[in-house]
Amino acid sequence: MRYDVAVVGAGSAGLFAALELAGSGLSTVLVDKGLAPRARTSNTCGVGGAGAYSDGKLNLTPRIGGDPEAIGCSVGELDELITHVDEVFTRYGAPAQYSGEDPEALGELRQSAAQAGVEFIAGRQRHIGTGRIREVIDAIYRDLVERGVRFELGVAAETIHHAKDQFTISVGQKAIVADSVLVAPGRVGAYWLREVARALGVGPSFGPLDVGVRAEFPAELYDPIERVMYDAKLRVRTPTYDDMVRTFCTNPRGFVVQEDHGEFVLVNGHAENDLKSGNTNFALLVHIELTDPVEDTTEYGRAIAKLSTTIGGGKPIVQRMKDLTQGRRSTADRIRRASVHPTLESFTPGDLSMALPHRVVVDLVEAVDVLDRLIPGLSSEGTLLCAPEIKFYDTRYAVGLGMETALPGFYVAGDASGHSRGIVFAAVTGVLAARRIREKAAR
Ligand SMILES: Cc1cc2nc3c(=O)[nH]c(=O)nc-3n(C[C@H](O)[C@H](O)[C@H](O)COP(=O)(O)OP(=O)(O)OC[C@H]3O[C@@H](n4cnc5c(N)ncnc54)[C@H](O)[C@@H]3O)c2cc1C
Repeated sequence: MRYDVAVVGAGSAGLFAALELAGSGLSTVLVDKGLAPRARTSNTCGVGGAGAYSDGKLNLTPRIGGDPEAIGCSVGELDELITHVDEVFTRYGAPAQYSGEDPEALGELRQSAAQAGVEFIAGRQRHIGTGRIREVIDAIYRDLVERGVRFELGVAAETIHHAKDQFTISVGQKAIVADSVLVAPGRVGAYWLREVARALGVGPSFGPLDVGVRAEFPAELYDPIERVMYDAKLRVRTPTYDDMVRTFCTNPRGFVVQEDHGEFVLVNGHAENDLKSGNTNFALLVHIELTDPVEDTTEYGRAIAKLSTTIGGGKPIVQRMKDLTQGRRSTADRIRRASVHPTLESFTPGDLSMALPHRVVVDLVEAVDVLDRLIPGLSSEGTLLCAPEIKFYDTRYAVGLGMETALPGFYVAGDASGHSRGIVFAAVTGVLAARRIREKAAR
């Protein structure tokens, strides 16, 4: 099978690239190892990628979700691209309301945060909600099919070879040949991309890694902040190590979920439109940079994830804040007696200090203490810490204009490229790549 463009990964980056390519006259195929929106069985793989099972918090500011300079975009250009992505989501059914728009309330929150020693990053957000985002993804998928984009679903891309200005992708029993390839396999496929890119001679460099936990606490504690910004971005510098710890992906009245990565499990969180819990959760992540002699932050992160999974007997670990600070393991009985009940379906009551590096544990405890000044009650005994939460977007590929790597015709986009950390930025990188492919084809 021969196409002008092959896209690997039908997540946010791949779908937005396909929307740009549909109707351009370039034959396009999208390969995804997961299934079509209505047939999906995995919460990370399939059309819509990890975003389809998120609650669709769209961060609509260049300050959140990526690094404009690394993709060669000015803040102005990026603003336009973000507006475009937001409009597309709205056209396919995203609800119209925003949060984080009231300047007075934002100013007051920034002041309270500063007084507490916390940095607050304000930005406009649209909240689609879990049920609705699946409908939006399905609408995009059906439209793409109607407009002639071909989908190869339920089969993983295995290898990508390059010869005579053409790429050959082995997909199960088939070989797909294309002039240009855009690889956007998300976090779930980031490790696979490393091997593929190395074989093609465009190996990555390593950036910082984010390691930590998902904190879960009574929803009422976060209500005053949620009224100002649904998913407020808060940053703290820890006293002992001067490390940066940040909150990420807040889910008011949401649920903590398990992510399966084969060799290890991670945790994440989402919030449903209709089904609400009594808890709010957010990721609490320690920013780690490595230099000599270890630069491969991905391997370091994987080692931590595997250790935590081993200690948890193959499941995520949950520990009460109180047990962690008192140096003892949380037992099933202690978790049962806690004032906050875990929303994770399956977990091992455990001890984070056996699962995470000492420095990370110290950072987390200190960060909760500082954040408690802004979110009173956060450091109280009931708060639960679920581990591990690790963000693997540290493997980064050098890209030129339009996300093209040093190998002409080979593009990367989305979280696996190391250039995005969320739905909107992933979509932006997909749009950039597709526009570049169109532009080159038109010459
Ligand atoms: C539970 C959860 C909640 C989240 N909540 C939010 C949120 O509210 N807001 C936000 O901005 N972000 C959120 N995120 C992050 C967001 O989902 C990702 O940043 C975004 O989906 C990245 O898009 P992507 O296109 O790079 O990759 P993905 O969406 O991960 O898609 C990658 C696709 O590639 C496919 N793939 C991988 N390897 C191969 C292969 N070898 N062959 C074929 N196909 C392959 C996968 O099956 C997958 O469908 C959340 C993530 C999770 C897991």
